[in-house]
Amino acid sequence: MKEATVAPTYARFDYIVIGGGTSGCALAATLSHNANVLVLERGSSPYDNPTAMDKENLINTLVNVTPNSWSQPFISEDGVYNIRARVLGGDSVLNAGFYSRAEKDYVEEAEWEMEKVEAAYEWVERKLVFEPQVMGWQSAFKNGLLEAGVIPYNGFTYDHINGTKIGRYDLRRSWP
Ligand SMILES: Cc1cc2nc3c(=O)[nH]c(=O)nc-3n(C[C@H](O)[C@H](O)[C@H](O)COP(=O)(O)OP(=O)(O)OC[C@H]3O[C@@H](n4cnc5c(N)ncnc54)[C@H](O)[C@@H]3O)c2cc1C
Repeated sequence: MKEATVAPTYARFDYIVIGGGTSGCALAATLSHNANVLVLERGSSPYDNPTAMDKENLINTLVNVTPNSWSQPFISEDGVYNIRARVLGGDSVLNAGFYSRAEKDYVEEAEWEMEKVEAAYEWVERKLVFEPQVMGWQSAFKNGLLEAGVIPYNGFTYDHINGTKIGRYDLRRSWP
């Protein structure tokens, strides 16, 4: 990882990936098995301050929108106020680490190959995500949702479905 300002004036690459976010990094890592790849990321590095990714700091990191922070406020074309990442790793560095599988219809509509999608899910579920322990406040929140009519109760599942469920979290933001 280098500052772009110290890059040589001339270099050749098989691929240049613009944006080192969730998909850019994964794409670059895959391409680099057999090719020479450059990733150009506009933001800084999360490795300079890894504690900013700790679960205790999630909100602080999100609301820090000072000029060199990881979080950039913006207003979408339809007028919604939001934030987006400007850091290597992209929104994965800012996000809450909640994991679900996409609906089958979504995968079909996106014209993804189901076999590859299944293999990717299995890899992620083996390596990165785990079933959380449901403690006091999570139970209270779950019961609140059910009382408010967010039904049915689906128990623990990684399916993306209507109602209330116990979900999975990735290891980075291992919420209690
Ligand atoms: C606050 C928040 C919470 C979320 N929570 C969850 C969650 O719990 N579970 C979940 O599954 N998803 C969650 N998401 C969504 C998920 O993180 C994103 O959908 C996903 O990371 C987007 O990946 P991406 O590769 O499309 O874009 P990004 O990861 O945003 O990557 C884009 C990258 O491109 C860089 N970039 C942009 N413009 C340029 C440029 N001109 N030159 C160079 N670099 C550039 C950016 O700095 C960024 O690093 C959340 C998102 C946010 C913002």
